Amino acid sequence: FENTPEDIESTRRSLPAFKVRSDLLTMIRDNQISIIIGETGSGKTTQLAQYLYEDGFCSGGRLIGITQPRRVAAMSVANRVALEMNVQLGEEVGYSIRFEDYTSPKTRLKFMTDGILLRETLLDPELEKYGCIIIDEAHERSLNTDIMIGILRNLLVKRRDLKLIVTSATMNAAKFSEFFGNAPQFTIPGRTYPVDIIYSKNLVNDYVEAAVTEAVKIHLSNKISSGDILIFMTGQEDIEVCMDLIKEKLTEVYSKKFGISKFEEISDLEIFPLYSALPPALQNKIFRKLDDSRRKIVIATNIAETSLTIDGIRYVVDCGYSKLKVYNPRIGLDSLAITPISRANANQRSGRAGRTSTGVAYRLYTEETLETEMYVSTIPELQRTSLQNTILLLKSLGVKDVLSFPLMDSPPLQTLLASLYDLWLINAIDNFGNLTSLGKLMSKFPLQPSLARILITASYNDCSEEMLTIVSMLSVPQVFQRPKQREKEADLARSKFFVPGSDHLTLLNVYSQWKQNKFSSQWCTKNFVQYRAMCKAHDIREQLVKIMGKNKVLLTSSGTDWTIVKKCICSGFAHQAAKLSGLGKYVHMKTGMDVQLHPTSTLFGLGDPPSYVVYNELLMTSKEYICCVTAVDPFWLVESGPLLYGIRRIDDDSSYHQS
Ligand code: ADP
Ligand code: MG
Repeated sequence: FENTPEDIESTRRSLPAFKVRSDLLTMIRDNQISIIIGETGSGKTTQLAQYLYEDGFCSGGRLIGITQPRRVAAMSVANRVALEMNVQLGEEVGYSIRFEDYTSPKTRLKFMTDGILLRETLLDPELEKYGCIIIDEAHERSLNTDIMIGILRNLLVKRRDLKLIVTSATMNAAKFSEFFGNAPQFTIPGRTYPVDIIYSKNLVNDYVEAAVTEAVKIHLSNKISSGDILIFMTGQEDIEVCMDLIKEKLTEVYSKKFGISKFEEISDLEIFPLYSALPPALQNKIFRKLDDSRRKIVIATNIAETSLTIDGIRYVVDCGYSKLKVYNPRIGLDSLAITPISRANANQRSGRAGRTSTGVAYRLYTEETLETEMYVSTIPELQRTSLQNTILLLKSLGVKDVLSFPLMDSPPLQTLLASLYDLWLINAIDNFGNLTSLGKLMSKFPLQPSLARILITASYNDCSEEMLTIVSMLSVPQVFQRPKQREKEADLARSKFFVPGSDHLTLLNVYSQWKQNKFSSQWCTKNFVQYRAMCKAHDIREQLVKIMGKNKVLLTSSGTDWTIVKKCICSGFAHQAAKLSGLGKYVHMKTGMDVQLHPTSTLFGLGDPPSYVVYNELLMTSKEYICCVTAVDPFWLVESGPLLYGIRRIDDDSSYHQS
């Protein structure tokens, strides 16, 4: 399996895109804008840029930028293309995602998230170094993709030499062509094989359990050589539970049959998780072919729907849900919610079973559910998320009237207004909707506006050293480990870091102790702290220090005055405050919605819970949880939120800039 450059070359030549290579090149040469459509796995992402490169497109030093909605995809695909081109990653082929840049002056093919390219337009509005931009996975309709497409439509008029390629899986493609004045479309021909679709007969209560049962059944009743299994789950948590349960169940079966006691002794199966926070080294393993005596089970989030193709899948198990960021304009809140997928997603998921031969897709929902409860296609992110970041960015780009910016679909007016209001609340825009100088400064940080805001506020309140750590720690997933069977030990270790009344300060405490222990990995293991997450936070911190330096936001520290730190946190999160309404129960102050402390919070289960808190994130599962919480003085809230809670705001626009 692909041991030599010749093997890789022959794999490349077998892809559907290769058969139409010269047609594709001709089309791109003849048109400024091309829309390219193809089944997942046809070679759009890995091949198109390479074809252009081989054709001499970059010989004058011009770059090809390829955007991806997902960080994992940008990383993984860049890795693959570097391998195919036989170069070191970071040289001719590189990638850039938030807080991570693997490019060099040699780089010609630059894979990046759509968010990175958006931020680049802030620094270089004409995108001068690029000769071609490929907006990949456009069908996903991610917020940043949609905004980028709008920016490009304006830019292409000014830069006649810039090429744009929009690629999409087979759904939603016509819309792109329309948006770009009927730009030509090209469909890469490719065959897929029929997939049998089997629905659940009854409503499924627990999709993890149902997926485990299905996967075990498939594995036990079909020959290993018949193919691999791909299970769609919603996120890291249920993926991990699913993995453990499959191991448990199979161990049970095999112990009866062969008298073994440990999963590791079963040699006919290997399980791979795939989610965005997975370490890159583990991501690459997923693509490796196993020997004929073992079956692969991949348990993935919707990353595996269209952005990454794993060969050899014959069975798909689809839980019917995905985790989406959703914004409720009525209550004005963003949250992560486990939501039913759309029918288009369901088709994509099933399709993964039919790439190399016929397959079977097990849907863990009834046919009636599909018909009555699932949308035809997913609502574009632009229409279901808060627009604070986007508005701040567009305003920084000089777009005065955000309402008339060209978009394929318009966001709900209510969301636009609510986001403008939230920006005004944290003093990023003034009463006329213009960017304040604080707002301008906030836009320099690749952070959500409220985090940028607390960092800047902290700098003139003598605690930006501390806040920098908190913000960096908030930018990494999962700091604490909680391995199976060792939950008690892990919880005890975690509780030793608790700073009463504040999860934010608890995070600061973890970092400070790690630093005192010379950033040691052994220390992390001993204390059930994720070493990789800590290194990432450290790295993010360094990068934010640079941005602060460049923008003259001073590094300040008051030592151990935690009150001022909490006050600054309050300044950025006044719109995310809750008031005690019963034991452990809170009511959201802006919306009146009932919320609960997440069990991982330092404040959870206290006999004497604080009356007022602000939180970093709202998680909606079976209940509405507030995560990463800090107790605050109600008076601070009054000071921070002008209209919301009554009185004036503390910061006038001139006092923060100390240089
Ligand atoms: P598309 O973008 O049209 O969905 P891709 O260019 O992503 O298609 O994939 C083309 C082929 O490259 C697929 O067969 C896929 O399995 C293979 N591929 C992509 N990434 C890797 C990788 N990291 N290792 C091995 N094969 C890969
Ligand atoms: Mg692709």
